[in-house]
Amino acid sequence: MNTSLNNKIYLSYGNQAKKLVKEILAAVKPEQQLKKSDLIALKPNLINATPAEQGATTDPEIVAGVIEYFQLRGFNNLMIMEGSWVGANTTRAFQVCGYQKLADHYQLPLFNLQQDSYQKIKIADYEMEIASTALKADYIINFPVLKGHCQTKITCALKNMKGCISNREKRKFHQQGLHAPIAYLNKVLKQDLIIVDGIYGDLDFEEGGNPVQMNRILLGNDPVLIDSYAARLLGYQPAEIKYITLAAKLGVGSNRLEQAEVIELNQDHQSTQLRADGKIKNLAAKVKAGSACSACYGSLIHALKRIDQQGKLDQLRKPIKIGQDYQKQQLAGLGIGSCCSKAEKFVPGCPPSAGDILEFLQAELVN
Ligand code: SF4
Repeated sequence: MNTSLNNKIYLSYGNQAKKLVKEILAAVKPEQQLKKSDLIALKPNLINATPAEQGATTDPEIVAGVIEYFQLRGFNNLMIMEGSWVGANTTRAFQVCGYQKLADHYQLPLFNLQQDSYQKIKIADYEMEIASTALKADYIINFPVLKGHCQTKITCALKNMKGCISNREKRKFHQQGLHAPIAYLNKVLKQDLIIVDGIYGDLDFEEGGNPVQMNRILLGNDPVLIDSYAARLLGYQPAEIKYITLAAKLGVGSNRLEQAEVIELNQDHQSTQLRADGKIKNLAAKVKAGSACSACYGSLIHALKRIDQQGKLDQLRKPIKIGQDYQKQQLAGLGIGSCCSKAEKFVPGCPPSAGDILEFLQAELVN
């Protein structure tokens, strides 16, 4: 583990994936922890065969940026590995999601972990079949997608390691309710660096379909801390996600978000292409947006989704405004972000997290 990162989370905003990730890596310099001969495993989230813009899978441009960064510095022992979920074919996902092309272009081996050999590893009451390829890596870089999940509420760094077990084990994980096995898997199989694709992530479903543009990449080396932060970004408290608490108890990492040092490398004030279809339409109907940044608007949509899940969307009666067009304007109703600081009431931040927006809006619900 790169101990120099410790409680730090690096954050970069924007949608130019390759450029952003190279800038973060240049700030962090993870190669200083490595020997040139180390086997570096790149583990994206290719749950199914859908392109990254649909919100389920890791943008291959992020992985391309990491490959270029390491190859330029003389690290040539890299591989890509993934096992899609039980219902999907990983080889097809490699093709559709752009990873076969990536492997060919940079001349890296591509390992389908659905077809790997497995080692049985026992921890507490669990015996897990973990892919031998993942176990032999010296350094695992995990590339989860920041997204909602129908069973566990969120999925990010800890849960993405599930791609490194056999299909039989994945079925067992679901029978056991996911939370405890995910925590134990992370006790056994350590990730060394986490680069979160937060450019597009799904609103509430791990297989995508309702992408929310959040325009950010996060980097850290503590999966519990990263997931705690991701929970806030999606409008949850870390304690609401059982596997985060369990992993912290097992010593996988820290869920003490108040001790995290979040380092923002830039700001991104490009306004978003507002989506108002699918499940997002109902939520977007509550909002008046004028040149809102994707990171800000995405956070608001996640916060509204949490209120919707509580069945309380109708209790939000005041107009909600967001975006740069409202700067310095006196506004009736509720403002989101520092651009709307002249609203009747506003939540500060540029952008505010979904968690902060949620707390702000919850205080405005009427019975
Ligand atoms: S507060 Fe304004 S400038 Fe900042 S992220 Fe939101 S919309 Fe963009």
